This record gives sequence, C-alpha cells and structure tokens, in this order.
Amino acid sequence: MTETLFRTEPYARECTATVVSSGPEGVVLDRTVFYAQGGGQPGDTGWLRWAGGEMPVSNAVKGEAGAVLHLPAPDAPLPAPGTEVTAALDWPRRHRLMRMHTTLHLLCSLIPGAGVTGGQIGVEKSRLDFDLAEPPSKEWLSERLTALAAEDHAVGERWITEAELDENPGLVRTLSVKPPRGAGQVRLVRIGAEASPVDLQPCGGTHVARTGEIGPVTVTKLENKGKQNRRVYITLEG
Ligand SMILES: [Zn+2]
Repeated sequence: MTETLFRTEPYARECTATVVSSGPEGVVLDRTVFYAQGGGQPGDTGWLRWAGGEMPVSNAVKGEAGAVLHLPAPDAPLPAPGTEVTAALDWPRRHRLMRMHTTLHLLCSLIPGAGVTGGQIGVEKSRLDFDLAEPPSKEWLSERLTALAAEDHAVGERWITEAELDENPGLVRTLSVKPPRGAGQVRLVRIGAEASPVDLQPCGGTHVARTGEIGPVTVTKLENKGKQNRRVYITLEG
C-alpha cells in the first residue's frame, strides 16, 4: 500500500520515496505525491528522478491493494527496486486541476437538489452532469461561480464514520462516483464555515486551500444529454 501524501498535503510538489516494484506496467513507491486517477480527476504527471536517471510519468493510476502505479512514458528508463527517488509533479498542471475540481464543488452548491450523474475534470475544461430539467443560464452560473470564488472561502475536510454517512444520505451529491471509503471512515470536503458550509460532500480528490485561488470562472456551454440530463462545462483563466 502506497502512502498517499496528496491526501494530507495537497500542496506538496515533490517527495522522496523508495521504489517498491518497477516494470513497464508501472512503478510503485512506498509514498507519493501523485494523485491516482479516479473520481473524475485525472492522474498526475511529472517525473521520478534518481542518481543518474529520470523517468517521465505519463499518468498515475490505482494498482492492486492500495498501490499507486506511476506509468512510465514510452521508452523511459525505469528505476530499480530499492532505489531512492524524488517524485516530482508537473505542478502547474496539478494546481489547475485542483482549481477546476474545487470549482465543480461550487457548481454543485448552485444547483441544489439535483443529483450529479457524471463529471470529468480537465486542464482546459471540466464538466458536471446534473439530473435536472431546467438549468440556470450560463450567464447567471458564471457570475455566481466567479463571486463565490472571489469570496475566498476556506476549503477543509472532516472524517465521519460510514454509519454517519448512511444516516445522512443527502450528503452524497454524486451518484456516479461512490464516496471514498476505507477503514470505516469517509472523508468529507467542506467549502466555507463549518456552521454554514457553501458545499459539503464526500470526496477523495485534491482541492485548493481557498477559493480565491480559482479566479474568474466561465460557464462555456450547457448541453442537453437526454430529457433530464444537463451537462455544464466550465473553464478558468490563467
Ligand atoms: Zn472534491
């Protein structure tokens, strides 16, 4: 099982680690800052560096038994098991994904009551699908998202038991992604004050610490994907 530093330290851009196993199917480290693809968030890219070598990482995905697999770029050299490496993220890309991901939470908060049936986070654009007959206008959503971001709400987390989650099914907005569960605990991500959060839902992804990092948000497109399914696309500046 890989120690997942991205969960406790989402702003860590690199870490030192030891290679546990290594092959064309991926390199496993004892610890990593690389987010493993899941929940609509792409895996991280970057580099593993060691004395005399460097392996570009083209993606990070979940492996067996809690391992994170760092996928080597084609023809990249592989570090041998036991090697001490520095795992370094493509930080500008990851930070943009964190901004995008947090914006999707804000979008959820503006469309209360509608189930989220799908979603995809990307570097250039991101989207959420809502079970919704009549979506608000692009202009209203853009204005409200930009205002919420500028209010610079803190983003925090809290762990609850699976039993507490089961007693509060309203916390689960995303119908297509099962909340991250493990060891009887579920991680809730909260935007805004504990007493009156802007958004609160189970999530295993990476987020910015304050919504002020997001900047202006534009809703670029609203798509009908079936009678009750509305797809909302967003993009960010910078
Ligand atoms: Zn999230």
